[in-house]
Amino acid sequence: MPFSRRVSLTQYLIEQRRRFPGASGDFNALIHDAAIACKAIGRTVAFGALRDLLGDHPGAQGAVNVQGEVQKKLDVLSNDCFMQVAQWSGHLAGMASEELELPAQIPAGQPRGKYLLVFDPLDGSSNIDVNVSVGSIFSILRAPAEVVASGREVTAEDFLQPGTAQLAAGYAIYGPTTMLVLTVGDGVAGFTLDPTLGEFMLTHPRLQVPAQTQEFAINASNSRFWEPPVRRYVDECLAGRTGPRGKDFNMRWIASLVAEAHRILMRGGVFLYPRDSKDPAKPGRLRLLYEANPIGMIMEQAGGRASTGRDPMLAVQPSGLHQRIGLIFGSREEVERIERYHHEPAPLVSDDNPLFGTRSLFRH
Ligand code: MN
Ligand code: MN
Repeated sequence: MPFSRRVSLTQYLIEQRRRFPGASGDFNALIHDAAIACKAIGRTVAFGALRDLLGDHPGAQGAVNVQGEVQKKLDVLSNDCFMQVAQWSGHLAGMASEELELPAQIPAGQPRGKYLLVFDPLDGSSNIDVNVSVGSIFSILRAPAEVVASGREVTAEDFLQPGTAQLAAGYAIYGPTTMLVLTVGDGVAGFTLDPTLGEFMLTHPRLQVPAQTQEFAINASNSRFWEPPVRRYVDECLAGRTGPRGKDFNMRWIASLVAEAHRILMRGGVFLYPRDSKDPAKPGRLRLLYEANPIGMIMEQAGGRASTGRDPMLAVQPSGLHQRIGLIFGSREEVERIERYHHEPAPLVSDDNPLFGTRSLFRH
């Protein structure tokens, strides 16, 4: 698709459909609905503290969501945006959201479709008050054939499909520009919202994650809870030019999954929120169905890799709607190295080994 031609999201989807005659118009319409929800959320978020003046405070509401976190009003508003746009579309059999304990049903009497929409309506919302980029993440699955045939209400089990079953995945990032990054299983395309037209325009036709990188992103304050393979990887990065990697690394940490994924998609890097021993009840922080899987599909479609550290992320069979999991993604060679460290026996830890000895920054 020539970049010099101005291509809107609508045109892009029509063109995709021409290339894959099996793709249905319903599917395109559903992606369009998700894009509309993202535009609405982007507008809402852009008002920032002006909402205070308008008497609509975006701060903590006091309500606690199913994850046990304080739910901010913008999380709820963003959830409503997705629900309102999608539930009347006729393309969905049901929806699941970070903000809802149980799947959302299509209202009685409304037409139902054959797809499932899963979303994190506002990712990185703890960054709202400091005006750092936030985003929305979504994933589209096929509803089980029996659900479509019977028209019955959806259950959590209907959503427990591995990442390989995703038909499409995307995120919107609300930063200096609003962008939509999308895969329908044929590479990854980035669209920039043209504020004068209100249209997402194709600006990044074929995004590729560089295979190598000198940037890593991890929350180092959790280092005492890391497993040995993660500690080894980070220690080797920190050892820089004089260590086994023979090159210096930079560290980044935004604490906003969408912003980290976007940076890595644009210029490479590796992101780790690994399984750790901090809280035995939560063997990982991020959510499989609406964070790890959609970001994982985008990474893999862009030539990168997503992993639990031990297994490919997209192969994991989910066991719960809000399941948490260790997530590592980004430049292929780095993720493969981290997986290798998880499968190799741990190197001998001794004071003779500079990486694990007294000079290590992350010694335990
Ligand atoms: Mn999130
Ligand atoms: Mn969220």
